[in-house]
Amino acid sequence: MSDFQVDLNNCDREPIHIPGQIQSHGFLIVIDQEHMIRFVSENTINFLGDIAKNLLGQSLYHLESIIGDVQQADFITQLMNFGKVNNNFRQTNPFEFSISGSSFNLIISPVAKFYLLEFEPATSTINLDIQSLVGKSIVEMLGDKNLNSLLKNTVQQVKNIIQYDRVMIYRFAEDGHGEVVAEAKQEELAPWLGLHYPASDIPKQARELYKINLTRLIANTDTAPAKIITEPGQAPLDLTHSQLRSVSPIHIQYLKNMGVASSFSISLLYKNELWGLIACHNYSPRFIDYKSRESAKLIGQILSSALEFRQDEENQYIHEGFNNNLEKISKYLQQNEFIEQAVTAEEVNILSVTNATGAVFIYEGKVIRIGITPDDLQLNGLINWVMEHVSEMIYATDNLSGLYPEAAEYKHIASGLLISTLSKQLQEYIFWFKPEQIQKINWAGDPEKLVTIDNDGFQHISPRHSFEVWTELVAAKSDQWHEQEIKSATRLKEEIHYAINLKAGAIRAMNEKLRLAYEELDTFSYTISHDLKNPLAVIRSYAQLLVRDKSIGERGQEFLNRIEDRATKMNLMINEVLDYSRIGRSDVQYKSTDTGALINDIIKDLDQIYDKAVLNITVGDTPALQGDHTMLFQVFSNLIGNAVKYSQQAETAQVHIHGIKSEKETCYTIKDNGIGIAAKDLVHIFKLFNRMDNVMDIEGSGVGLSIVKRIVDKHKGRIWAESELEKGTTFFVSFNN
Ligand code: ADP
Repeated sequence: MSDFQVDLNNCDREPIHIPGQIQSHGFLIVIDQEHMIRFVSENTINFLGDIAKNLLGQSLYHLESIIGDVQQADFITQLMNFGKVNNNFRQTNPFEFSISGSSFNLIISPVAKFYLLEFEPATSTINLDIQSLVGKSIVEMLGDKNLNSLLKNTVQQVKNIIQYDRVMIYRFAEDGHGEVVAEAKQEELAPWLGLHYPASDIPKQARELYKINLTRLIANTDTAPAKIITEPGQAPLDLTHSQLRSVSPIHIQYLKNMGVASSFSISLLYKNELWGLIACHNYSPRFIDYKSRESAKLIGQILSSALEFRQDEENQYIHEGFNNNLEKISKYLQQNEFIEQAVTAEEVNILSVTNATGAVFIYEGKVIRIGITPDDLQLNGLINWVMEHVSEMIYATDNLSGLYPEAAEYKHIASGLLISTLSKQLQEYIFWFKPEQIQKINWAGDPEKLVTIDNDGFQHISPRHSFEVWTELVAAKSDQWHEQEIKSATRLKEEIHYAINLKAGAIRAMNEKLRLAYEELDTFSYTISHDLKNPLAVIRSYAQLLVRDKSIGERGQEFLNRIEDRATKMNLMINEVLDYSRIGRSDVQYKSTDTGALINDIIKDLDQIYDKAVLNITVGDTPALQGDHTMLFQVFSNLIGNAVKYSQQAETAQVHIHGIKSEKETCYTIKDNGIGIAAKDLVHIFKLFNRMDNVMDIEGSGVGLSIVKRIVDKHKGRIWAESELEKGTTFFVSFNN
């Protein structure tokens, strides 16, 4: 026994690959690269006699001289050389020879810097032509396509070959516990089919060894193990690849409690993971020799690939259904402008890519529920929990309330939760739900009662004594999420991301087109306005010429005056349109502008036009602005000009201008006591050619404020107005510092 004491705290870490002892039906000699003997099992003398007493530190030749094979004195050296050249010992394992009349198998395995030489009896208790039996069995095994029949056939065939009392297929669930899914047994034995065994019955590290060593024989639970001895200072020997590796005392006790004398297992792998075991029990000792074990291994491998094939076929089938639906959704994503509609509004939707009973699409602040889902309040709580606890892009659980107790109140709707994270940052997810499925599990003994206290008061994980059927009802758990459902969720996420990217790209492209169209329109209006100016000038000058012609009567003169008047107005409008489009085409030349001086210039101009006696313009603080001097002039001249123009009805037009500089921006207000703007019109004042109903008899073109708005936008500033009809208007214009 190794020094490692197994107790409650370290049971799962019991280093079962370095037990320091072997099963005593064979013996072990370990040599190093120079063929010097470094480890020997204590029971070697039982097989080779006292002459083998002091093997440690001796050479392999010495061992060969003791064994003294009749055919070849240095047969082990030859096997070693052959194996070393080929880099493995598959072809020479096992090598059969005899020691004092008994047949032995020598099995050689390389382990780090050593070679294990394992000697075990070559005569099986089973006297059958195992190879031909295996051949026949395989045909029988694979005769049926149905999984249950396949497993049933397999246990029957294995039982026929190794003639053990009970042969089972033990399947591991994801949580490590196992279930007997097929069984062939002697009639008098109680059936174990359908029984579940807790994960602790086969601890994790044992499952790892099952993946490396595909067969495992425990020849006799009643024989004491043989210690491995070595020279002082040697590190413990790794027996992972050993055939004779001794068994954990816990496991031996466990088998003994079940009355098992010999146990044999064959690993079943699915995609390199341990799917299950063919577990064989015999209630009296029954040894299986190496060759028979190797043949049995073949059965395991064939069953493994049959399982893999079947599983792949089943996956393919499920996958096809989900896949067709994914294709449809992907098409909707291409056709529909709105992502959330594409994936939720059709008959085939996010719910159709898994076997879930409800789904929720959480996107751009919207929560769209399909099928049976928790209510809004419950969903809110769940989203918060997910935000805090789930970092994976794809996450699945079949026991939500086990992780998030609040979910217990809706476990009938959502015991299973599958999450696809579209964007954690934007809190965008797809959730799928599966309801609770209450399960009845028949345990072989109460899995909770595994801890015992020994005589010294220490706690132990005990090998179970009771295998009485113990039924547990498992609640708050849903059907598991199939790997194909997880794949679907992943693919759907990719499709949605792709669609989002495409849409973002399309919007960018559209923006660029718009920008170009805008530019073209600017150029167009600029050209048109410009070209209109000439013919208009000609009309005007002819009208002026004609006015001087005295032969034209009074009525004619009046018409001519009107023509000239309108032509002048049209010229004004054309100039404004030209101004407007010019702004679109020119870049902002940022400079610090002395706003006070600029406002004074504007006021001086206005004083020329309006009667000073009825106009009172006051100016407060005038902090400097960062911007294009010419454009800022246009802004203030339009705003102040309008304030004066639309206040003429007042006894004295009062206009006040002042600026306030804050940390980020400088904001100017231009306040008047004029006719005001109706609240409903405030949103329209910046549109080109828009004039309000109350200004019809006041001159204007409806272009000024459009120019102002365009300039402010160009400066990335803001403009807005507050107004009351017949009281006055205040414009606010703000520029970044
Ligand atoms: P307009 O040449 O008509 O003044 P603007 O583009 O400068 O054109 O102004 C658009 C419209 O906004 C005006 O026709 C008027 O109805 C309204 N408006 C602008 N400023 C004022 C103001 N200070 N008071 C009242 N109405 C105003």
